Amino acid sequence: MSRSLPLVVRRPEGLYCPEGGFFIDPWRPVDRAVITHGHADHARPGHGHVLCSMRGLPVLKARLAETPSLQGLGFGQRLRLQDVWVSLHPASHVLGASQVLIESASTTGSPAERWLVSGDYRVENDPSCDAFEPVRADVFISETTFGLPIYRWPKVADEIASLLRWWQDCCDEGRAAVLYTYALGKAQRVLLALLQQAPLPGPLFVHASVARMNQAYREAGIALPELATPPALLPPGAMVLAPMAVQGSGWMQRQRPSPAEAMVSGWMLVRGHRRRHAGVRGFVISDHADWPGLLWAIDQTQASRLVLTHGQTSSMARYLKDRGHDVETLETEFDAQAADV
Ligand SMILES: [Zn+2]
Ligand SMILES: [Zn+2]
Repeated sequence: MSRSLPLVVRRPEGLYCPEGGFFIDPWRPVDRAVITHGHADHARPGHGHVLCSMRGLPVLKARLAETPSLQGLGFGQRLRLQDVWVSLHPASHVLGASQVLIESASTTGSPAERWLVSGDYRVENDPSCDAFEPVRADVFISETTFGLPIYRWPKVADEIASLLRWWQDCCDEGRAAVLYTYALGKAQRVLLALLQQAPLPGPLFVHASVARMNQAYREAGIALPELATPPALLPPGAMVLAPMAVQGSGWMQRQRPSPAEAMVSGWMLVRGHRRRHAGVRGFVISDHADWPGLLWAIDQTQASRLVLTHGQTSSMARYLKDRGHDVETLETEFDAQAADV
């Protein structure tokens, strides 16, 4: 007979494992939290004890400096928390990002049940973080940020090549370039891809928030060079990687001539987003799985039940139901489009 108690439930504070006594990426302060990764909507401050992957520890130390107890767990290591076993498995996405596997500790001879919580994930790999690991589970709780068939990512190498051409054009026009990226994850991924293409068209700078995350990546063993923060006035041909918050800032307004702007995001595939950022060139590189990637990852788990959290949950649920899956959606407070600084 299968167990009737769910291993993960939704509480006002967030997703909760009753038998383990911990929350996963809670959106309110709690005593014990397992945090999948450092993005602001998953790693909120105010928790007593935080468990994350060893690889993600420097990032979370930088982001949750006030947390009294931060503990790292090696990928694949099993930790007993009350009546369950917990292990973390690479989700790619950003450095240290984990899928959380919870296994019931079987005492009565009934087979252990396995619940997997995805956090955010992508299925294509690159040198900036650990390769996505397919994990088998009975129940898979998955994000679906880009859960529509229109989301199919172009080749990263092609987008990097267009980015370099755009930067070269800026140099030829005697302008500087500002490239908007998330400070955690996207910036480091793009930097590593660009540095492989050296010599670069001009000098490269990083905003202070990107520099902080680069330092955390270096502490975790990722070979990123130390890059300077931008001077008060950018020289022509320079490029800065900066979070979106820099757009329209006093510093931007002081630049002469005004810099060319571009953004690296999966959202730039969508016409509405491109319109909203008129005058900003878009390069489509995402740290989330696209539609085929989500379906592939779901398939890999071989889960008999699917629970979809944030993003395009209802359309993805409909599609999966039509194909015979047992699937439900769960309201969460993760924000698939949160501005991350
Ligand atoms: Zn994320
Ligand atoms: Zn998320």
